[in-house]
Amino acid sequence: MKIAVTGGKGGVGKSMIATSLAIEFARRNKTMLVDADVECPNDHLLLSIKRKKYSFVYQIIPKWDFKKCIKCGKCASICKQNAIISVKEKYPAFVKDICIGCKACIAVCPTGAITETKKEIGTIYTGKNHNVNLVSGELKLGELASGEVVAEVRKYSDKINKQIKADTMIIDSSPGIGCPVIASLVGTDYIVAVTEPTPSALFDLKRVLYLANHFQIKYGIIINKYDLEGKFCYQIEKFAKINNISVLGKVPYRKDFLRSTIKMIPVVKVNPKYKKLFKKFVCNIVQELK
Ligand code: SF4
Ligand code: SF4
Repeated sequence: MKIAVTGGKGGVGKSMIATSLAIEFARRNKTMLVDADVECPNDHLLLSIKRKKYSFVYQIIPKWDFKKCIKCGKCASICKQNAIISVKEKYPAFVKDICIGCKACIAVCPTGAITETKKEIGTIYTGKNHNVNLVSGELKLGELASGEVVAEVRKYSDKINKQIKADTMIIDSSPGIGCPVIASLVGTDYIVAVTEPTPSALFDLKRVLYLANHFQIKYGIIINKYDLEGKFCYQIEKFAKINNISVLGKVPYRKDFLRSTIKMIPVVKVNPKYKKLFKKFVCNIVQELK
């Protein structure tokens, strides 16, 4: 069973929820947590895991043979990323960092002057603690292709799981609704959408649920910091009721969460009352999946 934890807006406590759910699932069966928030992976910090390098992620980029180049400028014209600069009568100049590897320039070159090479764009790590098997992806600093790194993390986690044989795989996605989030949600059985009682979080929640509906994946909501602003929490619950969406649970706003992050100890280990709370969330998710 694959469960994605997402939320639309950043900073709503998605990683805290994903790691806590992973620990509670791990009490029931073999669990893998996939940190697909590749621009800012932090599940290893919350679980106090020293990650080990498993593999690098590469992207195809073009390579020029100027002996074959006739300076026609077609490669620069087709590049939507503006990664190729062409000046009349000069060979094209390539800005490697902004290339997304679409290969359009290779296809359009009339003389075969452009071939393929590759560049490193990310790293896959593994680790284990609290009985949770972690696979974590990280985008290389300055690189843009986070969607590709997420897709590779998903592939590697399936490959690694052939040995681990985890029954539950939790995928902690990045915020937003773009490519990296889509790559995190595809092929999952259930989405846990984390939100908080603020207007912007509700706005982003609606966008991410639109995505879930598009992919026809079942979902439920967890409202984090629910007692921070009662009026907006009520609005989220009202929205859920009108749209027949399950509220899997609510998490209070307490200093324990700050302590947990600072000490790098999962909140379910800091205070037993959160263990009970997340156990209830796990039961609700399992019930939803029946
Ligand atoms: S591979 Fe695509 S993005 Fe990269 S330089 Fe060629 S056309 Fe531009
Ligand atoms: S399309 Fe090919 S031949 Fe034309 S400028 Fe680019 S590399 Fe040179």
